Amino acid sequence: MKSLRLTGRKLTERNRLIDSREMQCCARCGVEIWNNGSRHHRKLRSRGGGDEVSNGVLLCGSGTTGCHGWVHAHPDEATALGLIVSRWANPADVPLLHVLYGWVLLNDEGTATPAPTI
Ligand SMILES: [Zn+2]
Repeated sequence: MKSLRLTGRKLTERNRLIDSREMQCCARCGVEIWNNGSRHHRKLRSRGGGDEVSNGVLLCGSGTTGCHGWVHAHPDEATALGLIVSRWANPADVPLLHVLYGWVLLNDEGTATPAPTI
């Protein structure tokens, strides 16, 4: 399946939904983010992950620094936290440990709902 790629106004709107859900904070450590963060693809783009809001989290740093860098440097730990999702999973179905909300499922409308307890 072709992965979703957004550009222009649609990408801006997708980023706004993610940043708003995160309340302009890093989803992992909670630091306030204005221009010192980036949006991580939970299902990595190299695994076919797309630009769905449910697949994006706002993290401090870049792909090599801050929490965004930590995720890519620690894939096993990041997977246990739901920050990395397998190529076969739908990110909307995989719980994420969010610094503001606890264990949640992310949806494409830009909100987070409590993850069902196992
Ligand atoms: Zn952080």
